[in-house]
Amino acid sequence: MTLTAIVEKLAAYYGKPARPEITDPFEMILWELSAELASDEKRGAAFNALKKRIGIKPQQILKIAPMKLVEITKLGGMEPVRRARRMVDAAALAAEMDLPKILKLPLKDAKKALRKFPSVGEPMAEKILMITHSYPVLSLESNGLRVLQRLGFAEVRKDYAASYRAMQEALAPQLPRGYPMLIAAHKLLRRHGRELCKASRPLCAQCPLELDCPTARRGGNMSQ
Ligand code: SF4
Repeated sequence: MTLTAIVEKLAAYYGKPARPEITDPFEMILWELSAELASDEKRGAAFNALKKRIGIKPQQILKIAPMKLVEITKLGGMEPVRRARRMVDAAALAAEMDLPKILKLPLKDAKKALRKFPSVGEPMAEKILMITHSYPVLSLESNGLRVLQRLGFAEVRKDYAASYRAMQEALAPQLPRGYPMLIAAHKLLRRHGRELCKASRPLCAQCPLELDCPTARRGGNMSQ
């Protein structure tokens, strides 16, 4: 089954995903730093509190007392002090860098520059480039990566970065065309990994991809 066919099946099952609400690169970084290992609702609550009480421009974050920022990051769960510190570091970097200009750099350089921001790895750098319509890449977070591994697109490698790279190489010849389709693929694969193709005990009997899934044929066990 092709990636496009998978995305179409998932869209038929879950419905067409909404467009991203946050499309500014710095705001996307703040969204990530607003919470850790938390639900989207909790992350949204922390981000909205930041927006309302402090503001989401780099200068607004840089002039606020650190404890005020920690009050916000506490709403997003674990490691609030570390995340508040990272927000300040991100704001300082955004204030000195020209983010719109970075998005126009050659792909490799754009990713390298974005990865200087705290908590921005390869998948997040690609997400920023995809959501801002800068480069037609398919960013995958951990759920989406797991779904595609179970569907047999690429094997699990020794570490996350190697697994991510292997998946991107496997997908390159068949990436869906156009930003709306790429963004929909990212969102639908993420949702599928969170709701049915969970890390432990995937719910294969309810899955719209079951008939084409090699992992389902092995009883939902990826390691066989
Ligand atoms: S059939 Fe099971 S393992 Fe395969 S994609 Fe669906 S939930 Fe995941």
